[in-house]
Amino acid sequence: MSRRILMGEYLHEICSFNPAPTRYEDFLVNRGQAMFDYHAKAGTEVAGARDVFRQQADITLVPTFSARGITSGGTIPQADFERIEREFREDLIAAGLVDAAYFTLHGATAADREVDPEGRLLAVAREVLGETIPIVASFDLHGVLTDRMLEHLDAWTVYHTYPHVDFYETGARAAKLLLRLMDRQIRPVTAKVEIPALVRGDELITATGRFGKMVDAAKAIEQGPGGLSAGFFIGNPFTDVPDLRTYAVVCLDGEPELAASVATELAATFWEQRSHLQAKLCDVATSVERAVATDQPVALVDAADATSSGASGDSLEIVAALRAAGCRRRVLTPIVDEPAVRAAFAAGVGARLTLELGGTIDSRRFKRHTFAVTVRSLSDGRFLSESFGQEWNSGLTAVLESGPFTIVATSRPVHLFDRSLFYANGRDPKRYDITIVKSPHCQHHMYAEWCEMISVDAPGSTSANLPTLGHTQCRRPVFPLDPAFEWKPVAKFLSRYL
Ligand SMILES: [Zn+2]
Repeated sequence: MSRRILMGEYLHEICSFNPAPTRYEDFLVNRGQAMFDYHAKAGTEVAGARDVFRQQADITLVPTFSARGITSGGTIPQADFERIEREFREDLIAAGLVDAAYFTLHGATAADREVDPEGRLLAVAREVLGETIPIVASFDLHGVLTDRMLEHLDAWTVYHTYPHVDFYETGARAAKLLLRLMDRQIRPVTAKVEIPALVRGDELITATGRFGKMVDAAKAIEQGPGGLSAGFFIGNPFTDVPDLRTYAVVCLDGEPELAASVATELAATFWEQRSHLQAKLCDVATSVERAVATDQPVALVDAADATSSGASGDSLEIVAALRAAGCRRRVLTPIVDEPAVRAAFAAGVGARLTLELGGTIDSRRFKRHTFAVTVRSLSDGRFLSESFGQEWNSGLTAVLESGPFTIVATSRPVHLFDRSLFYANGRDPKRYDITIVKSPHCQHHMYAEWCEMISVDAPGSTSANLPTLGHTQCRRPVFPLDPAFEWKPVAKFLSRYL
């Protein structure tokens, strides 16, 4: 007899400090078969899980509801989240009886009143699907792992890489756990240790940084005797919710004491290293001075306005500082500025205009700056991502030139963790002296291989200078918002099998 596995997805992260809300329309929603069509050729968690399930002759897959963030923004209005919850519930009900369920989640969204949307969706899943079927979810390591999520799950997996490259594997690992649960081969016990620390910076790059060694230790536990999953949830420091902090989490087959002791060890190591896991930033004036003085190519990394982390993308602060410093080097920057794009479209290619640029969304943090520009090109903003080959959409987009400054102005935020937007608009960063990179990290070959990277301490709602952001919701004390306090790791058990 065929066994039916339900699959669903809710994948996004928000930035509580970005004043522009993340609306229902900011998600790409695919329901039913459209969910599988979207993932047909993708290297995603859903694809990884699907491919594992498809190796079993007796399994029928039931795609239901998928909502993936197009790009990040601020807190989700309650009504928009409730629409997602309603559609998710409808699709789970429409699926009929199933034997098990797998969900792809991120873990770092928040709505106006619901501070744990992923936990809420898992509660809905239990309500609809019942308490007895196994449910497994995979997560982003930037997720904020709440007890409620774990209470509704039989097992879970989490990325082991940053920048993330193991989407497919993380889905596949979750699917294998689900199959073992369906065959009643395992009894997962999760030990979770809360670490009151928020982290950022290059040491988190798993291939090269200190965090990578800690993840290696977790992987060894996962792959060791009785290991089911292990890892860290470092949280998204910009999702300001009560449970925001880091968690060391270990899931073993039985063995709660062992799970607790290894999770505690992972947590203790992380805590020891916390001050190294912070971004090293260079103030704006010094960064600009260095970028202007050298004759080498430079990337000024503006992670504070990183759209993929949830920032508004409308800062022109570094460019304004370069101009004030008399910079004659060729500079390339992206900016989200819908009014400027509209003006450029109205004027047409070749037109000369004087525009106020920047600060159209996050006006509390960013100033408006006057630039005399020439409109060089206009596009509909649809292009293929350099990283994943999927279509991205920056809305109507204009390339504006002002002396040595080339400004790629978009109507809406789009991911900037690769060079897609620049390429799509005929601009190669290698032909510029200075590129403003609005992402905490990019793949090495994209910039680091051929230019000097300077991490700038600019203002922005995703600044790695975490104490400047103004958290009000996350439980205190938490490092580095509270720099000095005593802490001892304590493990908590969450299991449907104890
Ligand atoms: Zn992430």
